[in-house]
Amino acid sequence: MNLEEYSGIWVFLEVKDGQIAPVSLELLGAGRQMADKRGVPLAGLLIGEGVASLAEMVFPYGADEVYLYDEEIFRDYRTESYMRAVLECVEKHKPEIILYGATSTGKDLASAVATDLQTGLTADTTMLDVNAETGLLEASRPAFGGNIMATILCKKHRPQMATVRPKVMKALPPDPNRTGQIIRETIELREEDIRTKVLEIVRETKEKVRLDEADVIVAGGKGLGSREGFELIHRFAEKIGATVGASRDAVEAGWIDHQHQVGQTGVTVTPKVYFAIGISGAIQHIVGMQNAGLIIAINKDPEAPIFQSSHYGIVGDAFEIVPILMEAFQKMPD
Ligand code: FAD
Repeated sequence: MNLEEYSGIWVFLEVKDGQIAPVSLELLGAGRQMADKRGVPLAGLLIGEGVASLAEMVFPYGADEVYLYDEEIFRDYRTESYMRAVLECVEKHKPEIILYGATSTGKDLASAVATDLQTGLTADTTMLDVNAETGLLEASRPAFGGNIMATILCKKHRPQMATVRPKVMKALPPDPNRTGQIIRETIELREEDIRTKVLEIVRETKEKVRLDEADVIVAGGKGLGSREGFELIHRFAEKIGATVGASRDAVEAGWIDHQHQVGQTGVTVTPKVYFAIGISGAIQHIVGMQNAGLIIAINKDPEAPIFQSSHYGIVGDAFEIVPILMEAFQKMPD
């Protein structure tokens, strides 16, 4: 493989509910910095039906170009059709790097593309950089159960690829004066060539917990002792209008649903305030909440690692401290 042939940084632009998904805009922010460092263009790859008008929207966020596949066959996401578009576009334009959101669509597509191209893919990357001279993507993520941060390189294959979770990178403030070029692509793909058919889209009716959008999170861990003990977290959250979060151990104990889990195998959150109550502060939890504006930990063990990642720490029994806090909030004017 001639690595020199590959140039330019791409972001897969995911479309969700008729809009560009926020994670794609965040990746354009990260991609812009790397493209500037390398002196190469930053492109978006937009696939869908009736999505042409969205292409223009990404230029203010840093893209120089958008490769656009706008065809009926791309109405619904299907691995086979989307993967074919990405593979053809890669073959034709040879990017050095492609970034995807670590969403269910992004993860599915990236892994299918990586397998076909026999190239490397770093999943759930938490930091991205590029070596200006060699062009090597430096994709860092927790490894070995979160005990170390590993920086993963893909030295012999192109494109280099990574998925990044929502809210890990920052979108650039949109610059309305930035414009770019839309490159329309077509594909010879017939419905009969695709084995998967979307018969119906059924939306989950269970109310979705929007931890990633919450301003205040009260998270509880194994230190609450039992399902009944965990009720304290719900009561506190309700009192202060917060969303409930949890450690994996609290989820695995069956005290709360997995959609509340914060961390490496849960959700990455960036609230203004994060209460960590009865949570020890394992690295897998910390990576999911370390970017919160203000972290307040309550733990009865003064040596608990959570205190190293907190702005304020209260050493004590949650069942004594939390009621005091609730009373104090009660007395505060609205
Ligand atoms: P513990 O570690 O048991 O901590 C309980 C804490 O409560 C202790 O610090 C204790 O001092 C304190 N405590 C006890 N009683 C009280 C009391 N009455 N008042 C106040 N404090 C008290 N974990 C996650 O959270 N999210 C993830 O996404 C995640 N992903 C993982 C992925 C992998 C591959 C692996 C290997 C692990 C992952 N984990 C994750 C698990 C993680 O390593 C820890 O096991 C987990 O976070 C511990 O949960 P905890 O802090 O609730 O429990």
